[in-house]
Amino acid sequence: MYDIIIVGAGPAGLSAAIYGQRAGKKTAVFESYSYGGQIVNTPEIENYPAIKKISGFDYATALYEQASELGAEVIFDKVESVSVKDGSESTDGKLFEVKTLGGVYEAKAVILATGAKNRHLGVDREEALTGRGVSYCATCDGAFYKGKDVAVNGGGNTALEDAMFLTNYCNKVYVIHRRDEFRGEKETLLALQKKDNVEFVLNSNVVKLLGEDRLSGIEVRNKLTEEVREINVDCLFVAIGQEPDNQAFKDVAELDKAGYIISGESCTTKTPGLFTAGDCRTKQVRQLVTAASDGAVAALAACSYVDML
Ligand code: NAP
Repeated sequence: MYDIIIVGAGPAGLSAAIYGQRAGKKTAVFESYSYGGQIVNTPEIENYPAIKKISGFDYATALYEQASELGAEVIFDKVESVSVKDGSESTDGKLFEVKTLGGVYEAKAVILATGAKNRHLGVDREEALTGRGVSYCATCDGAFYKGKDVAVNGGGNTALEDAMFLTNYCNKVYVIHRRDEFRGEKETLLALQKKDNVEFVLNSNVVKLLGEDRLSGIEVRNKLTEEVREINVDCLFVAIGQEPDNQAFKDVAELDKAGYIISGESCTTKTPGLFTAGDCRTKQVRQLVTAASDGAVAALAACSYVDML
């Protein structure tokens, strides 16, 4: 039996664990994949207050170690459902039952910090070529393409930072974006525009993946001219944003149309004792600093809830 169970060991979940443990609550964090969430894919973080520059992996590792050293249990097991335990309302308040692939756990409060997963393009053979020239993580796979031509699809911070990172290794980097304006930070875009091994392919979508066993190129269609162009690349890095993964919790937390958990800055949900933090909830700004902030807010709210039981 835990005071607080946190679902997800990204920046929001691990920050919540730090606050939970420091408040004297027995806290466990469940993670189905590996700690750190999406931030491990970021080559350099340069906008976290008081840290001038750190890699996403180093940041995530420091956070994981901090939470673990404070006594939070990080359990690598997939959470399949969260429900309010039947008949537990009588004496010691409501209990949550957290079912995982490996077992069933109980907690007085639960924080959903499930983050989001990479959005896929939805073109033919995308899944079959994943790991064979289609990648969602430039930091993880970029080094395999030293001296090669590659493409990055997307116009947000991830795409721009991925492209910057790849210009250091690759012969040529095509940046393919469906508009001619970028969502990512101007400073990164300006730095990228100064690189002599980058070509911007704007107002264009990737419509076809070429190659049999491995990617050998892509076809892109210009939205304005309808012209289709073939570009030979060894890897396509897809960086077109994220989607939430909250369907397993739709009975206890209300989801919006896109699947995000409906919540405000208080990080509460429709179920008392169930909180949410980070990119998985409805919010305007999805940044590392706002995920960490949510972790603190949700954990302190969960601690107060547990104290009142
Ligand atoms: P994002 O900001 O949501 O950008 C996604 C990009 O992909 C947009 O340019 C979007 O185009 C494009 N896109 C979406 N769906 C598409 C589709 N089906 N086909 C083609 N293009 C598509 O995602 P992100 O770059 O991964 O960033 C997510 C959040 O993390 C953002 O808040 C970002 O600022 C933050 N982040 C921060 C840092 C940092 O602080 N260092 C680093 C990385 C990410 P449109 O622009 O036309 O919609």
